[in-house]
Amino acid sequence: MDMDRAERPVALVTGSTSGIGEAVARRLAADGMRVVVHSRRSTRAGEVLAAELGGTYLRADLAVEDEARGLAEAALDRYGRLDVLVNNAGISRPIPHHDLAAAAPAEWREVLEVNLIAPWVLCTAALPALREAPGGGSVVNITSHAGVRPKGSSVPYAASKAALNHVTRLLAAALAPGVRVNALAPGLVDTPMTEDWTDAQRLWRERAPMRRPARPADVADLVGSVVAHGYLTGEVIMLDGGLNLT
Ligand code: NAP
Repeated sequence: MDMDRAERPVALVTGSTSGIGEAVARRLAADGMRVVVHSRRSTRAGEVLAAELGGTYLRADLAVEDEARGLAEAALDRYGRLDVLVNNAGISRPIPHHDLAAAAPAEWREVLEVNLIAPWVLCTAALPALREAPGGGSVVNITSHAGVRPKGSSVPYAASKAALNHVTRLLAAALAPGVRVNALAPGLVDTPMTEDWTDAQRLWRERAPMRRPARPADVADLVGSVVAHGYLTGEVIMLDGGLNLT
């Protein structure tokens, strides 16, 4: 992208100190955007990555509503514009689906707060700026194939991602044509979150047509394409190496 630095689009990528979010931050910076790197507590990693990408690091716990709203406001204070919001941060604690008692209401509340309500709060706070984005605003929600198929690390997690998939469609209809809203629903991705999920890793190697989990860069490449696409909206794009076909 050949333009003055001050004219470059600004992207906020939540949870961008590791895994998918870090790869997305790198990809959008490579595409010429000024990137706001964010995390909950990995401050050092965030500062190092932001410095490398020529962006800014902001810390906020998305389980806390005021901090989620404050994150969008701080990004706007810093740059005066926001073109792209990638709702990537998410939590996922494995709980067997048959163990209903383990998925206690406190677990539901925390998962929904981080995975569903925080993206809503961020969209709400960012909306005036997204509407002003010269190329149209773009929201990309990182959901999960667990929100499409009856699978996933826990019932609350899968339900949070299913809800965010539907919110994606509802907001796409409500906010067009000024703001496009899409979701990417990955299957297993090799990240710190999944490094000891050996059963899932075996499933992807043995059963997925692509014979491997995704790499964070596979997801980031698709985010870059979705952000660059001026017409795509309301889509929930599965990226699971074809496992859903089996
Ligand atoms: P990850 O490596 O565990 O990274 C999670 C990021 O989110 C970190 O930057 C973390 O910050 C941040 N975060 C977590 N809780 C937060 C909170 N309460 N407030 C603010 N930031 C918070 O995760 P990942 O595997 O890349 O997953 C990223 C997204 O993809 C998630 O939404 C996940 O559900 C989704 N996804 C992942 C997979 C997979 O197989 N990995 C598959 C489908 C969907 P700190 O490090 O500071 O805590």
